[in-house]
Amino acid sequence: MVTRLFYEKKLVIASHNNGKVREITDLLSTLPITIFSAADFYLEEPDETGVTFRENAELKAKVTSAATGLPALADDSGLVIKALGGAPGIYSARWAGPRRDFKTAMQRVNASLVGKADKSAAFVCALSLVWPDGYVATFEGRVMGTICWPPKGENGFGYDAIFMADGMDKTFAEIEPEAKHAISHRADAFKQLSKSCFSLSKQ
Ligand code: IMP
Repeated sequence: MVTRLFYEKKLVIASHNNGKVREITDLLSTLPITIFSAADFYLEEPDETGVTFRENAELKAKVTSAATGLPALADDSGLVIKALGGAPGIYSARWAGPRRDFKTAMQRVNASLVGKADKSAAFVCALSLVWPDGYVATFEGRVMGTICWPPKGENGFGYDAIFMADGMDKTFAEIEPEAKHAISHRADAFKQLSKSCFSLSKQ
């Protein structure tokens, strides 16, 4: 298990996605750290050239830490569908096109699964923390579930309306955000990060 305690006073969240920045800031709110976002430094978004969630999270955190001289935290996440060989996977955001149209992306998922009996899937999240000296700690979280159709619920974002976590009879878009955050892939990765780097066992 990778461990290095985080004693720094500042942290940059290596994301241009306001939703992600807000969610990560909330998760770190109990810590005495001043949080910045990549936008605070007018940084450009790097190309996600990695072929795994881990590679993309590390790439984003490394570029941001090198540009700011501060520690940086990045998240890369997506929907992995077994019967589609892991697609959309790291291309989850890209399946929604430049206008980030997730209705179309969900329709594409459904069309790809026609005739396939196995609808099992997982949301995966890689979280990477990079220190200014180049030390990297990366954690991968997941939540297992099933793809359902038609989409249901108004909460959440992305593919939430077609994802039902194992043991639930509602999609991630039908349940309250707190209920999703208790079991989500991002929460799983955060628990591991908190335990290893922030000495927090209860998050
Ligand atoms: P990233 O910004 O490259 O990490 O893109 C992540 C993409 O994966 C998002 O745009 C969503 O499409 C999808 N995704 C990741 N996490 C979630 C989630 O919790 N719910 C729904 N979709 C998600």
